[in-house]
Amino acid sequence: MRRYLVFLVMLFLVLNISAQESVNNQLDSRGEVYISILQKEAIKNQEKLSLLSFDKNTNDRVFFYANRKAFSSIIDNSINYKLESIPSLLTQVKMLDNAKQFSGVWNAYPTYDQYDSIMHKFASDYPNMCKFHNLGTLASGRKILALQLGDSVNVNQNEPSFLYTSTMHGDETVGYVISLRLIEYLLENYNTNNQVKYIMDNVDIWINPLGNPDGTYHTGNSSVNGATRYNINNVDLNRNYPDPEDGPHPDGNTYQAETQIFMDLADSINFTMSANMHSGAEVVNYPWDTWSQLPADNNWWVYVSKMFADTAQANSPSGYMTKFGTGYTNGYQWYSIWGGRQDYMNYFKHCREFVVELSNVKLLAESQLQAHWNYLHPSLLNYMEEVTYGIKGKVTDSITGFAVKAKVEILNHDFDSSSVYSNDSGFYYRPIFTGIYDIKYSAIGYKSKVFELITVANSIYSVIDIELAPETQSLNSIELNNKIEIFPNPAKDILSISSEIKMGSVEIYNTIGALLYSQIISDQYKVNLDVSSYKSGVYIVKIDLKAGIIYKKIIIQ
Ligand SMILES: [Zn+2]
Repeated sequence: MRRYLVFLVMLFLVLNISAQESVNNQLDSRGEVYISILQKEAIKNQEKLSLLSFDKNTNDRVFFYANRKAFSSIIDNSINYKLESIPSLLTQVKMLDNAKQFSGVWNAYPTYDQYDSIMHKFASDYPNMCKFHNLGTLASGRKILALQLGDSVNVNQNEPSFLYTSTMHGDETVGYVISLRLIEYLLENYNTNNQVKYIMDNVDIWINPLGNPDGTYHTGNSSVNGATRYNINNVDLNRNYPDPEDGPHPDGNTYQAETQIFMDLADSINFTMSANMHSGAEVVNYPWDTWSQLPADNNWWVYVSKMFADTAQANSPSGYMTKFGTGYTNGYQWYSIWGGRQDYMNYFKHCREFVVELSNVKLLAESQLQAHWNYLHPSLLNYMEEVTYGIKGKVTDSITGFAVKAKVEILNHDFDSSSVYSNDSGFYYRPIFTGIYDIKYSAIGYKSKVFELITVANSIYSVIDIELAPETQSLNSIELNNKIEIFPNPAKDILSISSEIKMGSVEIYNTIGALLYSQIISDQYKVNLDVSSYKSGVYIVKIDLKAGIIYKKIIIQ
């Protein structure tokens, strides 16, 4: 009996040492390990586990990824863990045949080079509906790519911008292929599918299929087998964003190149809505992840989340996308995370972004890809369509007609950054749930305006264009205005400006505020400008009278 006990103790030690070795091997070769901890132990040690990346929970266990630093916190705190099988090595998925050109066959994963050429090919096959963007090149040489789609993608049509992005966790590859399939579907069905046509005609669509190429192609450009969650520096990109509650660098890491590329994109494109595709569960996860306070638009979030999950359920075998019974959840109610992209986009960029977890299996067998496309694409289209609804319009200067960058705030409703801003062209888009709202428009240098009792209904849009009056407009400037004469108006070749008081400078702008001409003309009462080269249209002349500035609208024919 005693000998048996000694044997058991030794067996335990050997197993433990070999588990430890295996952990070290994995940390050496992959930079990350996949482990689980008993639910009650995880809850008890929640603070000590803050460096780990929560992945999912079952009835009794919580699953995490850990890099070397995070893993040492497990050892230092003597927390019992179980080493789990690496999700991206559970099955070997088939890669696309190198020799075969990619052509609507979606039952294999592309190599990195194929991905790059597929993206280029979409843009070259559909030059008017699809534009290629390299958002940034990583140190590895791999690129963060996006395609911009619409009915006329080379012309700014002042439409709301929408972003789909996937696979910032490199081993969650389903959304990567689904995104490519979605691009193809939008392009191929423009003339045959009314919903596709409506979305392409009314939305500025951006799709980034692969947010973490270094993780996905961890073992090399020719295979996604063995993909890692983390990027090349073993950082979880979905913990690397500024956080509404925890501030900058909540994970203690510098912003990774991938993070910076997305923050730059969100700075340059005023996205109204977006979604971030993941895998490991089947559920829609809406804000916030970082705190328990529900979002101002909770009823809208439940509406779009439920629509997504219900539609996916209706298009799939029973049991798909039914986590929490409904298939959707508030992020914090599932599991709190900080530094996530969803909260960053909502809080700092005023963009409505949710997370969709597309499949329980991360590296889904290639034979399942087409089925998941069937489950998901009606939901993906519906969610995109939502960006066209709610309240929208244009904010302009009441005197010059120039676009105004204004805050659009729903009174007694907005908080936690749920208000939106008009873009550089003055256009704003405010998705919102059915209701009656008071809307306030405000901008620096302008008198605020409130529109009361605006009725909004789901699946339609209300247009409210508004003019804001500059705060400086006074009797005085109206008097000044009367001292200026511009003729002829409309003008063809020469535009004459005469003034009862001396002018300092004259500038000409187009209606979106771009400066076309500027002349300093100190102390003159009259000036003639050659406008013969201007295209026909409306222009704004700005005249500095030293005593004040006057704007006049002119027409050139
Ligand atoms: Zn993920």
